[in-house]
Amino acid sequence: MPNAQAQINASLSRLPSVDEILESDGAAALIRDLGRERAAGIVRSLIEEKRAELIANAAEGKIWAREELTAEINEMLKLAGASAQRAGVRKVINATGVVIHTNLGRAPLSHDAITAMTGAAGYSAIEYDLNAGSRGPRGDKVVSLIKDLTGAEDALVVNNCAAAALLILSVFAQGREVVVSRGELVEIGGDFRIPDVLTKSGAVLREVGTTNRTHLRDYENAVNDSTAMILKVHPSNYRITGFTRSVSTRELSALAKEKNILMYEDAGSGALIDLKPLGIKGEPVISEVISDGADLVSFSGDKLLGGPQAGIIAGGAELVGRLRKDPFYRALRVDKTITAALETTLEAYLRGTAIEDIPVMRMLAVKEEVIAERSVRFVEKLKDSLGTGSNLTAVPGRNLSAVGGGASPDAALETTVIELKHQEFTDSQLEARLRSVDPPVIARIEAGCVLLDLRTVPEDDETKLLAILTEIGS
Ligand SMILES: *Cc1c(COP(=O)(O)O)cnc(C)c1O
Repeated sequence: MPNAQAQINASLSRLPSVDEILESDGAAALIRDLGRERAAGIVRSLIEEKRAELIANAAEGKIWAREELTAEINEMLKLAGASAQRAGVRKVINATGVVIHTNLGRAPLSHDAITAMTGAAGYSAIEYDLNAGSRGPRGDKVVSLIKDLTGAEDALVVNNCAAAALLILSVFAQGREVVVSRGELVEIGGDFRIPDVLTKSGAVLREVGTTNRTHLRDYENAVNDSTAMILKVHPSNYRITGFTRSVSTRELSALAKEKNILMYEDAGSGALIDLKPLGIKGEPVISEVISDGADLVSFSGDKLLGGPQAGIIAGGAELVGRLRKDPFYRALRVDKTITAALETTLEAYLRGTAIEDIPVMRMLAVKEEVIAERSVRFVEKLKDSLGTGSNLTAVPGRNLSAVGGGASPDAALETTVIELKHQEFTDSQLEARLRSVDPPVIARIEAGCVLLDLRTVPEDDETKLLAILTEIGS
């Protein structure tokens, strides 16, 4: 087909230039938001995309007019602009019912913590003694709060719990053996695997017991001259049930003391107060881990604790002091805004107002009747604002929320969800549509429905959510 090549060349020659598209009205907003360079980059790649499409579809023999091509690229530009706007860290409405949603930033912070974080964002006395008017110890208030809450002699805050484990293992177990039960060699979300963390820190893993049962004598038999410590890891995101046996913190720390080695517990999420009344079972209470004799314990700041991303280490004064002096700590320490948010979050526990003040606690503690009432009320309001003949239907339904964050996977948190159906969209189209608005609404698809769980939606966001659903339904 000698003409086909001529036809395609004709179309290709009519592709607009980058500058032509940038001069068009459609590009003005993009240039304003992203700057000319980045906008030009997007336009260039869209023109390339169109060029490839023309070549791929050459057999159709269509000859494109310049106006058509320009209009198509402008249309693509709108979508690319909207997608560029959505990139990055931005507010979403978490309607999944997963309270500690790792992909959505784990714990949402309390109003007080956000205020403290904002206040600390400028100059702040992170390493300055205001009474003396000179340099002071870094973050000593947060340390004293952790000591008060856990009963530990000293504490240290690092980037996250993974950093805490790396620091502890590399300082105290490099080149030496660490005894761990085979039932606790866990993976927590892809890139945190206990055996790999041990290797990375230079420690030698000494596995004991079996997947389901490990006895005290297994640990006893494994301890030798090159043993540095016994490590107990909270299995967090999974549970072994049935014929099982694991050894308690108390027994392990007594053994460690007898053998003159360390006992370190990676509690993962852990809990600062007993969460059993909230239906959260099997999470070690940190103060009990300390009183049961662990030399060191580590836990996350942004899981059940409900604060910012951080790894908290609590334990004996001499041991924590050595961690603080290690150059590795300097690379893992947290910044002023995190320190401020953590201080404020911990203060709520000490005041005894954690359940009211900390969003994670509030969302876990809320009674199912309260969620049911909210959901029914919301559905009624939505029906009113949609009016008759809407494409969207919403009904309340019984379901379960989840703790998330690798904590308490078997907790049954009864809830009432809002089940959505759209006449023109499939479930996945409706779910994607909810994600495309501002702020994006993250929903769950289950049994042929799109579900919204108000447990994780702050009441402040309800009006916004109502407006979004009304828009989608009309
Ligand atoms: C979550 C978890 C970690 C990792 O904590 P990050 O704060 O996410 O680094 C480590 N160990 C256990 C047992 C965990 O549950």
